Amino acid sequence: MAYRTEALFRDDAYLKTADATVVAVNDRGGIILDRTIFYATSGGQPGDTGHLERADGSRVAIAATISGETKDEIIHVPAPDHAVPEVGEKVSLAIDWERRHLLMRMHAACHLLTVVCPFPITGASVSEDDSRVDFDIPDASFSKEEVTARLMDLVRADHPIFTRLISDEELAANPGLVKSKNVRPPVGTGRIRLVCIGENASVDSQPCGGTHVKSTGEVGEIHIGKIEKKGRENRRFRIRFGPMPAA
Ligand SMILES: [Zn+2]
Repeated sequence: MAYRTEALFRDDAYLKTADATVVAVNDRGGIILDRTIFYATSGGQPGDTGHLERADGSRVAIAATISGETKDEIIHVPAPDHAVPEVGEKVSLAIDWERRHLLMRMHAACHLLTVVCPFPITGASVSEDDSRVDFDIPDASFSKEEVTARLMDLVRADHPIFTRLISDEELAANPGLVKSKNVRPPVGTGRIRLVCIGENASVDSQPCGGTHVKSTGEVGEIHIGKIEKKGRENRRFRIRFGPMPAA
């Protein structure tokens, strides 16, 4: 049977701590809580790390967070040799916030890149210091300097980033919202989460379940480290933090 974990990070990506109750420990030691601030690996964003604190003050280090049988079941994977809490136990949660905030900045940066490069996305992966987005691009005239300059224009404009729920029907009426070529947003649940950038989503909106910073300014300085040719019409863009290194 699949559990349903209340995903607190969906409404507030800035929660660093929370309290929860253990509802199950699976046969591999994975801990399932009634609610969590730990994002589970999906959509190219890695899951959170951090710890659970038990009533006696001892800590269970969480090395990874993944989805279970369904996307709604979130499994906290303890580091090896950690005692796991009992079902029914109350625990305090804390994520590795420094790492998560880097991932939120990078994830938002990936959205900005899809605004600068409005082409079908064939893959994406977010990490703390280097992220990539792959596009089918018919003309390969993009330079990393030009793309970096346009990304930084969006960062400096400090546009708000927010989420909005739409119905399956609204999504069907606006097929242009989906930029991913291979991944379709899950339909049938009646509600799709859109991540919007700009007043009234004037800059961008696309379905996404990840965690993002609340404004483009918070992304900070980024640059395109590399544009790699992955196929005749496919390019991989690598985003890094900081200013572009001098050539
Ligand atoms: Zn996203």
